[in-house]
Amino acid sequence: MKRELLRKLPRVDYLLKHKELEEYGKEIDYYTFSKSIQKGISFFRESILNDSILSFEENDVILKIKEILKKNSLYNLRKVINGTGTIIHTNLGRSLLPKNIERHFLDITTSYNNLEYDIESGKRGSRNSHLEKLICEITGAEGAIIVNNNAAGVVLCLNEFAKEKEVVVSRGELVEIGGSFRIPEIMKFAGVNLVEVGTTNKTYIEDYEKSITENTAILMKVHTSNYRIQGFTHEAKREEINELAKRKNLISIEDLGSGILVDLSKYGIRKETTVQEVLKSGIDLVTFSGDKLLGGCQAGIIVGKKDLIERLKKNQYLRTVRVDKITISILEVIFRMYLDEREAVKNIPTLKYITEEISFVKNRAEKISLLLNENKILNRVIETKVDVGGGSLPEEKLKSFGIEFLINLSPNEIEKRLRNLDVPIIGRIEKNKFIIDMKTIEDEDIEFVAQIIISEFKENL
Ligand SMILES: *Cc1c(COP(=O)(O)O)cnc(C)c1O
Repeated sequence: MKRELLRKLPRVDYLLKHKELEEYGKEIDYYTFSKSIQKGISFFRESILNDSILSFEENDVILKIKEILKKNSLYNLRKVINGTGTIIHTNLGRSLLPKNIERHFLDITTSYNNLEYDIESGKRGSRNSHLEKLICEITGAEGAIIVNNNAAGVVLCLNEFAKEKEVVVSRGELVEIGGSFRIPEIMKFAGVNLVEVGTTNKTYIEDYEKSITENTAILMKVHTSNYRIQGFTHEAKREEINELAKRKNLISIEDLGSGILVDLSKYGIRKETTVQEVLKSGIDLVTFSGDKLLGGCQAGIIVGKKDLIERLKKNQYLRTVRVDKITISILEVIFRMYLDEREAVKNIPTLKYITEEISFVKNRAEKISLLLNENKILNRVIETKVDVGGGSLPEEKLKSFGIEFLINLSPNEIEKRLRNLDVPIIGRIEKNKFIIDMKTIEDEDIEFVAQIIISEFKENL
């Protein structure tokens, strides 16, 4: 019986030419195509041997292979729909780039370019030169340097200016950011000695001053990105830290984390000190991320005093955390948008989502709600609150709208099925209802999102 079934299994070379599979063969590479066929046959062979399949038709094998082919043809890193509402979602790739970046991006990546070539002199150039002036113009800094990410920026500064020396940080600022960035451990890694001063809730400038020894090199401030100390609190002002650093011949550095270039309070969001303001206060060096509130790609940006930036450019560690042409080309587009703040707020998705009028989000929610209801995917529009995310603006919840599913399936079931689509939809479960938040879903994606939800649920509600 088993032997008969095994003999009935189609052969690989037969299936490779099978009409039903032909179109897949054209779409993916031969290796993946034949591997998938083999895998499908193996599945049936094993199932026959362990008695979980007692009969089958050729078409069953074809269907199984199609399923495997579909899975194998998907990229591991691929597009997902962010229905969580969290704007800078680290697990979902942080900030989105403006769509109109595409042409310049293709130009730079599919052609040669002047990454380290000075076109005017015909000699070797520096990759940092494409961005430095632009960033200085926007932030008011004397110098700027770009590295792989903000964590690398912090390590570079510590290593250059405080190796085997002391760095003073307030106990209220010993942060841990997601993905194992912890200030005490970063200090150890950079080869510097952390000196904690003050208490969790109160640190005065006198605490910094008392801790200074002949071994002190840096007074450092760290943005408490993902928490806020409230109540009976005090922190030393930047101006005080800067004055003390100057008087004692030390360097002052601030790890600003997210780093915002636009005063968001103009748009009704709680005031966050901008990079420009931190520099104006006299802090020597400021580091921030490229893909948080800036709205660009992964990068670390260090801005500040000219002589200090020049020293960083000669540090050996820089070679290991330098950025490539892709990062530089993206950041040039992004920073250019900041030359006109209105342009930045309109075109950079992260800023657009944070500042847009709530009626736009409501419209998007109503639009998708209608499309789904028309197709019997019952739902209703609800008011929601979302996080900016990415360790930016902690405690600041933004108003938003979403849709709540009212179909006859458990929220966990809905969540799982939408997460397993070819283009996964990641939502959230709240009060035992599955919700897709519309804060982070573009107008032009709505029909597509509705379509994939409808085709997933239409037969199987
Ligand atoms: C996010 C963050 C970092 C790490 O930045 P990456 O660009 O992710 O390396 C460091 N410090 C602070 C305060 C942050 O908020």
